[in-house]
Amino acid sequence: MSRAGAVATLNALRKPVGASIQGPPALRPRPKGSPVKRRYSAFAIAREALRHHSGWTRTWKSPAPKSRYDVVIVGAGGHGLATAFWLGRNHGITNVAVIEKGWLGGGNTGRNTTIIRSNYLQDPSAALYEKSRSLYETLSQDLNYNVMYSPRGVLMLAQTEHEVRGYRRTAEANALQGVETEFVGPRRVKELCPIMNIDGPRYPVLGGLWQPRAGTARHDAVAWGFARACSDMGMDIIEQCEVTGVTREGGRVTAVSTTRGEIGCGKLGIVVAGHSGRLAEMAGFRLPIESVPLQALVSEPIKPCMDIVVMANTVHGYMSQSDKGEMVIGGGTDGYNGYNQRGSFLHIEETVRALVETFPMISRLRMLRQWGGIVDMTGDRSPILSKTPVENCFINCGWGTGGFKATPGSGWAFAELMARGESPLAAPFGLERFREGRFIDESVAAGVAH
Ligand SMILES: Cc1cc2nc3c(=O)[nH]c(=O)nc-3n(C[C@H](O)[C@H](O)[C@H](O)COP(=O)(O)OP(=O)(O)OC[C@H]3O[C@@H](n4cnc5c(N)ncnc54)[C@H](O)[C@@H]3O)c2cc1C
Repeated sequence: MSRAGAVATLNALRKPVGASIQGPPALRPRPKGSPVKRRYSAFAIAREALRHHSGWTRTWKSPAPKSRYDVVIVGAGGHGLATAFWLGRNHGITNVAVIEKGWLGGGNTGRNTTIIRSNYLQDPSAALYEKSRSLYETLSQDLNYNVMYSPRGVLMLAQTEHEVRGYRRTAEANALQGVETEFVGPRRVKELCPIMNIDGPRYPVLGGLWQPRAGTARHDAVAWGFARACSDMGMDIIEQCEVTGVTREGGRVTAVSTTRGEIGCGKLGIVVAGHSGRLAEMAGFRLPIESVPLQALVSEPIKPCMDIVVMANTVHGYMSQSDKGEMVIGGGTDGYNGYNQRGSFLHIEETVRALVETFPMISRLRMLRQWGGIVDMTGDRSPILSKTPVENCFINCGWGTGGFKATPGSGWAFAELMARGESPLAAPFGLERFREGRFIDESVAAGVAH
């Protein structure tokens, strides 16, 4: 390519067009009537390289809202978008709008530390998270969008006798559930992660729960991939549109009020994570849920030094290395409810202290960025996938600190529930479990780490 051509290409790449603030570069406005989706392939990349990348079109449409849809989903995070995708793919329902108050994926979906695993203790959780993990295995092919799923393995450290007993029990439960995990001793831990200090000053490493097909995926790409596929099915993804009220008639939702006008709906799905309590209030019911800031940080990029994900729940910190070389570090939740997307400083110190003790080599790393998200916590630390007291209104929330891993599976189950009125995967996670005292207690697996 000539120098002028290269400069033109770079300039085009620097100037994304489109409504999404942080979406992938949309290089050219879509000409009226042309198809949104062009299949991504090695051939397409070669073709575009030859014509200065002038043929790429918008990744998803950004239309004005119509007056009515069969289904309205509030919240264009991963779970809302995955729900819309499976509604179309599995149930043929495509007259769907996904409404987002900010930008697509700008909630917890774009703020998490991307850990994917399914080593939960209770059968309903293992079924749901393993379904999700297995969907991740082929998600890039299913969406024709590279979500960078990296099954590099997740290791949860046991640093007390109590944890050893707990993880041995989980490994046995996982064997019965068909989830591939193994309890490993300290020597194997050191082999898997040579930079770890297994003779830590406070809590030596006594072993760990190892899930070899767990790992990470690129969080934004998951949201963008689902959005592109939904848009291609004719669904409307409406960003910068906040739902401010829910209109009901005779016990049914008829419409939502938004900052871009009223939108009628046949069914309403609320998928807004930390804002679930507020949306439920608009729809006329209450949720047993709290909203709490959870934070994460990344270091400056360094050479590859760690090719698995490690979670140290006793000292509390977890870490993996991104493709760019940054160490991705997960912290704790604030000890009080809140809606700020930062988290308190106290936790940065706590988390970094825990990780320096586990990985002394990071002690001289500088931290690049820190941020927070608002997570939606239930009492039993399990999600809610449920019908509600309002007949045609459904709720998907309560994923707390660990819902990214569940994104495709949650969408699968919630779409089934919305389309058919029942779903075997979602059934144990109904709201009625709080009234009946039938909790799915995952406080060890989900309350602290991810
Ligand atoms: C720091 C951090 C680290 C995490 N690490 C992990 C991890 O490693 N692994 C893991 O599995 N999980 C992790 N999680 C949890 C995970 O990110 C969430 O459970 C998951 O992303 C929730 O997805 P969602 O689609 O339900 O919510 P969100 O992505 O938050 O989407 C909800 C959307 O609803 C929109 N919305 C809210 N109110 C309205 C309204 N009134 N009108 C219109 N739109 C509205 C919001 O703007 C938002 O975009 C982490 C979370 C945080 C904050």
